Amino acid sequence: MAQAFFGGVHPNDMKAATNEKAIEQLAPPAQVVIPMSMHFGAPCTPLVKVGDHVKVGQKIGETRGLGAPIHASVSGEVVAVEPRPYSMGGDMMAVVISNDQKDELSEEVQAPADPNALSVEEMIEMVKNAGIVGMGGATFPTHVKISGGIGKVDTVIINGAECEPYITGDHRTMLERPEQIIGGCVYLAKMFGVDKVVIGVEDNKQNGIDSLNKCIAEKHAPVVVEPLHCRYPQGGEKQICQAITGKQVPPGGLPAAIGCAVFNINTTCAIFRAITQGMPVVRKIVTVSGSGVIDPKNIECPIGTPVSNLFDACGGLKDGTYKLIMGGPMMGMAQYTADVPVGKGTGAMLAFCENEEQTIENPQCIRCGRCVSACPMHLEPLMLYQYTKKNMLEELDAAHLMDCMECGACTYICPARMHLTHQFKVGKQLLKNKMAADKAAAEAKKAAEEKKEA
Ligand code: SF4
Ligand code: SF4
Repeated sequence: MAQAFFGGVHPNDMKAATNEKAIEQLAPPAQVVIPMSMHFGAPCTPLVKVGDHVKVGQKIGETRGLGAPIHASVSGEVVAVEPRPYSMGGDMMAVVISNDQKDELSEEVQAPADPNALSVEEMIEMVKNAGIVGMGGATFPTHVKISGGIGKVDTVIINGAECEPYITGDHRTMLERPEQIIGGCVYLAKMFGVDKVVIGVEDNKQNGIDSLNKCIAEKHAPVVVEPLHCRYPQGGEKQICQAITGKQVPPGGLPAAIGCAVFNINTTCAIFRAITQGMPVVRKIVTVSGSGVIDPKNIECPIGTPVSNLFDACGGLKDGTYKLIMGGPMMGMAQYTADVPVGKGTGAMLAFCENEEQTIENPQCIRCGRCVSACPMHLEPLMLYQYTKKNMLEELDAAHLMDCMECGACTYICPARMHLTHQFKVGKQLLKNKMAADKAAAEAKKAAEEKKEA
């Protein structure tokens, strides 16, 4: 059993509602709304216009700089290209497709004659063209992570921790599609030139571990499964690196700094499908759960499906549902509408109706220090909170607020119910604003001096 990382908490995993239910396919939605930003980086530029006919897998959004292309997830007619409500808040340019229910596959989707004969460069190009991003929620473009890590990375880790409560999509994938996970691992090993890939799985998924080990043995694959003690946020990139290698990623650094690259379970499956079938990311497995959902499930649906369709497929929402969260309860984003679409990074859609809201007005810190013990990034949340509240930006920067991964462990453990993580999001924005203002002032000063000298 791998060693743990510093800090962390043990929330009730709440996974029993869905972890024994097979992934269901959603009945095809009448319409999909595909946002032009489902990745880290600048939004894509739409390549289609109203009235165009599109097919499944056709590229409909092109990247501008860092990013990943976006593809049609259903066949049909483009009925709008306009800003629509978006899960990250506000509106985002989107391509709206009316589904003709024919599920026609685009001619752009081409499987290679022999996937095993592809060069490393050709495999990376296929990953890039497939629009693959970190599907655990980080949404960093996968081809960039691979090409940037070659030569620096000696440990490839597949993140099967799935430590957020309620979410079971990766667990079900281990049980139902182990050959895609192991196949993706084999291609990652080839691309990075390593002789083995490590899959880290928390030990509350023993049947998932068994399923992967059976597949590894059958295929004689260069993959090992490392069971991990359950602890949140083990699925954080830096935490799973430490749990598996014992090494800590330095503050402000990336896993590559200690020779690691981390990929999510479903990202690994997407790599397998891209390299063997030429298939881009057009579908997503979403856990639909929480006390407000009548019949919680894991559902696979086309990207761009409105989340209201997922709730309908689960028998609807209970009376009194007062909160929707896209993602897990620790790191997810509250939503004001069920009209937002499923994106590449959407792992769960939760609804709550029971008395689970534990926030209080005007909470007061009792200086117990429990948040410090829980913080996996070795931060002092109580001090970060005070600095943010008092707008003490220099102190906030010196206390490494930007290293906060917004995991919510401090908020979870805090007996005074301080609104810590929320305040850190505000503080980060204040710091970013200050950095931008400082940069603008420095540039203006330099320009004025150059003008003076001329
Ligand atoms: S856990 Fe809460 S009450 Fe305790 S020191 Fe941290 S912020 Fe204060
Ligand atoms: S939210 Fe930030 S400060 Fe709080 S425990 Fe997580 S990393 Fe630490």
